[in-house]
Amino acid sequence: MAKAVELPLARGTVDRASGLRTDPAQIERLWADPATRVLRVHDGETLVTGDPPELVLVEARAIDGGERYFLGLDEQRTAYFAISAPIEAGPDQQPAGLRSVGSLLGDRDVGLLVHAIALANWHATHRHCARCGSATESAAGGHLRRCPADGSEHFPRTDPAVIMLVADDEDHALLGRQPSWPQRRFSTLAGFVEPGESAEHAVVREVMEEAGVAVTDVRYFGSQPWPFPSSLMLGYMATATTTALRLDDELVEARWFGRDELYAAVRDREILLPPRVSIARRLIESWYGAELPTPPPG
Ligand SMILES: [Zn+2]
Repeated sequence: MAKAVELPLARGTVDRASGLRTDPAQIERLWADPATRVLRVHDGETLVTGDPPELVLVEARAIDGGERYFLGLDEQRTAYFAISAPIEAGPDQQPAGLRSVGSLLGDRDVGLLVHAIALANWHATHRHCARCGSATESAAGGHLRRCPADGSEHFPRTDPAVIMLVADDEDHALLGRQPSWPQRRFSTLAGFVEPGESAEHAVVREVMEEAGVAVTDVRYFGSQPWPFPSSLMLGYMATATTTALRLDDELVEARWFGRDELYAAVRDREILLPPRVSIARRLIESWYGAELPTPPPG
């Protein structure tokens, strides 16, 4: 697969083997295989061990209960499952979520974890049929829920959101701060794609709504899942055709930064950039042309 940019949460290597999901006998055979490895997730966290961290993967026979999701097969045909159930850390193990370890895990591990957490989030909040209200049952290796009353099938939901680095003709980038963010955190603008809207239109609309800036030349950058709880972030670059700022209540501050100014603001801790695991950070560094420093907290 050709990749324009490598994003931290878009590095998975395991084949989802979606054809196997609809064959319950195959799923049972894989679950019973002693080579199969299982990842446990709960409340957006799993267990990791070591430095750099690796997922704690266990044999299926060590698992007692919990909802089971089939994640796929690796090149050696080893099967991976996730179990959604409370987790207890053993010696040298720590609970961790994607925000803390998403950029540190290896490619296979981050792909398994983002898949498992996205599924677990969806199952946790979609227990009933949207047609008739009956309790639904997990099926297809955890990739759908079926209503026993009317037979309807309900598929995991992913909410597309756009996130964009807006630059003007004089090479200034627009960064803003949302009221709920930590003090001094500045990042790219972002927002959900609305029903019946293209991603490119959402970029133009969101930048105008949030900052009062008109943009053109919307260019696709890359995407990564962001399961907090169920977003897919579609990254774009866009060129501003106006620069006066008029903020709505989604932003408490917004500023145009030149390259040197951005570097100095980050170095001097005048502003804090989003974490390395985010597509926002990659958009900003792609525009800047290099990695920007992450000062230690304090
Ligand atoms: Zn129903």
